[in-house]
Amino acid sequence: MTAIALDIQGRICTGCNNCVVACPVNALELTVINPVTRKKTYNVLNGKAVVVDEDVCNGCGICLMVCPQRAITLTTE
Ligand code: SF4
Ligand code: SF4
Repeated sequence: MTAIALDIQGRICTGCNNCVVACPVNALELTVINPVTRKKTYNVLNGKAVVVDEDVCNGCGICLMVCPQRAITLTTE
C-alpha cells in the first residue's frame, strides 16, 4: 500500500480554511493544537493549525491546488 505523507507548513498557512472545505474525505481540520503534544512547529492564528488524518487522506491532491499559500506538500512512498 502506498504511504501518503501530507505536510502543512504552519509558518505560511494563514488558516483560510480552503483546504478543509475542499477535501472530499474530510481528512483536514483547522483545530486548536496542544502545545505540549504537538510534534511540529505550528504558527497559525490563535494557536490553531490545519491537521491531517493520514489514515483518511487518499492523496488526491485537491488541497494542494486550493491553497493560496502553497503551504501543503504531499509525498507518497
Ligand atoms: S490530498 Fe485529498 S484527501 Fe488528502 S487531505 Fe488533501 S484533499 Fe484531502
Ligand atoms: S488552504 Fe493553505 S493557507 Fe488555507 S488553511 Fe489550508 S494550508 Fe492553510
